[in-house]
This record gives sequence, C-alpha cells and structure tokens, in this order.
Amino acid sequence: MLILRCPYCGVDVDETDLHGGGEAHLKRFGPGSTDDEFHDYLFMRENPKGVHFERWQHSYGCGKWFLAARCTATLEVFGTYPAQTTEPPKEVVEAIKAKRPNWEVL
Ligand SMILES: [Zn+2]
Repeated sequence: MLILRCPYCGVDVDETDLHGGGEAHLKRFGPGSTDDEFHDYLFMRENPKGVHFERWQHSYGCGKWFLAARCTATLEVFGTYPAQTTEPPKEVVEAIKAKRPNWEVL
C-alpha cells in the first residue's frame, strides 16, 4: 500500500485517504502558444517505470494538494512537498540520487 506523508499535517496517510491528481510540474502554455505545445500540455504525460513526480490531495484529511516523488515500480517514497513548489526541493533530489545514482533531474 502506498503511504505518503502530508507536508501540511505531518501525518503518514495511506492511499485510501488520498486522491491522485496526475503528473506534477507540468509546464503550462497559454495564449500565443502553438497548437502542438497546447496539445502536449493537455494530453502528453510521462509514465515512467521508476522515479515519478505526482500531485496528491489529502482528501480525507486537510484537503490540501501536495506533490510527491516516488518510484512507480517499488512504491518507495523519496519525499513530499507543498504543491506551490515549482521544482523538486533539493532534499528530495538528494534522496532520489542517494537511492538511484543514475537518475537525472527532469
Ligand atoms: Zn493533510
């Protein structure tokens, strides 16, 4: 079972109390963008076997959205952090590199 720590509550929450929101750190394209850029923003998502950054909501708790870095193959969690963060925090990147030395930042 996937267990994530809500960065707002500070409690470990199992997946039945969470709601998944898809890929994190999407680059948004607005007016003036090309059709291809907007298409990719709407429809193209990463689906890696390994390290992935995702959006989660603590839906049966504080209700807030946060981001998580985890391995999709092993469910190993490298860290969680507030949803307003535009890129993975340094400590999360270091936690990933400690376990996956060949992993590279997006
Ligand atoms: Zn919470």
